[in-house]
Amino acid sequence: VTIDTLVESPARICENTLFLPNPDIRTPETLFEGRKNSPGLNLNERETQAWLEHRLLHFKPEQFEVESTRPDQAKLMQGMEQCKKAQQSWAATPVKDRVALLQRWAELIIKNKEDLIALLVTEAGKTWADAVAEWREGIDFIHHYCAEGLRALQTPTRLPGPAGEDNQLVWHPRGICLCISPWNFPMAIFLGQIVACLVGGNGVLAKAAPQTQKLTALLLKLAQKAGLPDPLIQNLGPEAASADAAVKTLPVDAVFFTGSTATARTIALNLATKPGPIIPFVAETGGVNCMIVDSTALLEQVCDAIVQSAFGSAGQRCSALRVVYVQEDISERLKTMVTGAMALLRVGKPVSKDIDIGPLIDESAWRRMQTACRHFGLEEETLQADQTFEFKPRLIEIALPGELQTEWFGPLLQWVSYGRDQFETVCSTIEQSGWGLTFGLHSRLPSRAQRVANLPVGNVYINRSMTGAVVGSQPFGGQGFSGTGPKAGGHHILFSAMVERCVTHNT
Ligand code: GLU
Repeated sequence: VTIDTLVESPARICENTLFLPNPDIRTPETLFEGRKNSPGLNLNERETQAWLEHRLLHFKPEQFEVESTRPDQAKLMQGMEQCKKAQQSWAATPVKDRVALLQRWAELIIKNKEDLIALLVTEAGKTWADAVAEWREGIDFIHHYCAEGLRALQTPTRLPGPAGEDNQLVWHPRGICLCISPWNFPMAIFLGQIVACLVGGNGVLAKAAPQTQKLTALLLKLAQKAGLPDPLIQNLGPEAASADAAVKTLPVDAVFFTGSTATARTIALNLATKPGPIIPFVAETGGVNCMIVDSTALLEQVCDAIVQSAFGSAGQRCSALRVVYVQEDISERLKTMVTGAMALLRVGKPVSKDIDIGPLIDESAWRRMQTACRHFGLEEETLQADQTFEFKPRLIEIALPGELQTEWFGPLLQWVSYGRDQFETVCSTIEQSGWGLTFGLHSRLPSRAQRVANLPVGNVYINRSMTGAVVGSQPFGGQGFSGTGPKAGGHHILFSAMVERCVTHNT
């Protein structure tokens, strides 16, 4: 593939939908202070493509090989003690100095963009566009939480009291936070969780996904290079026991988790039955996310939004669209448009900018999608030797109410037609499902926009796609089966890693 063919490739229906990074939208410099330095990187720029292509061509993942040592409990406990010590002096470091080191980490992440983006492509199977977007989101998280820390943690809050009484409310770190992050956002979610905890003066025990350990190792190396005290972040490494086992055995003071609802429940159970202090738990889990399209919608816009939300990132986002409800009057027409756009999607190993859908993360994800095919009566595939785990996007028509029990986590979309007078039936189906992460509406009727703003979901998107929440603009996270909150990239998550102390002084 030459750079010219990349730039001059003919426009396709999905050209502008799957390539999320649009610097005009992603980096509004005025949005807030912390975003000011967010790096812009537009894949449509010839220069960006050139270095990315060059880097990928010469990329040697072996260079980033992570040594896989069996976890040794005694060594781990020793590491935790060192982490605790480092945390104590970190907690005593002024917020602005902590922030300065974290910002330095962000600078190194910006500087090392080539290796990081190449690892996102080669290790996590991301398309170029998704890799660039995730790299930028990781940096956004650091800037955002640093800005939040400076805003909220520098001075104690004075509270009212009678004459002679001084009341001060001060935030303190909890101690060591266990951060359990997933393979689908191995940079953005990994950094987001960790930095939210570090800004407040905590230490971190990182349990990153085993599938993306090279990237984890590089990010931690850059943290060290930035000058973050070495044992402040302890990495459990590729051979770590499962997340729920880590929770059971390790002395931690808070747990931050992104992953499946089932694992979140096991972790909650383990925490509840663990002797000792009560440990707070923040979980961001999945969703069987829905969209409703009525006959007032703009069909070209809906088509783009559906393709991007359901099939972008190979459907491996918790926010992805799983069930679309389309008013029967427009259902056939819209389906023709969507299946047409699907036929143009290029699925494969992300060796060039032109790949729209990368592979699933591993064989077990691929097998799970075959089970989904069996479940819905779709044709299964057989695994070829030396295959990467591509799964062609599928659309399955299904009767109201659709199947909202299982989150399959791949590019498979249920298509459900509903009658003109069934809008409310669809809303209550969604309400009753128990999932509460993302939701999309395509309608020009204000009453419908008002109605869906009251659905019990964390992120409601109206007349646009429903993935790709922007740090600081669309704080992300759900409710019900989909998580505990508070949201990533919002104002409140920092405080989940902290305790309030009120000091009343009778002067
Ligand atoms: N924040 C991502 C989005 O808005 C999804 C994160 C996830 O999959 O956990 O698409």
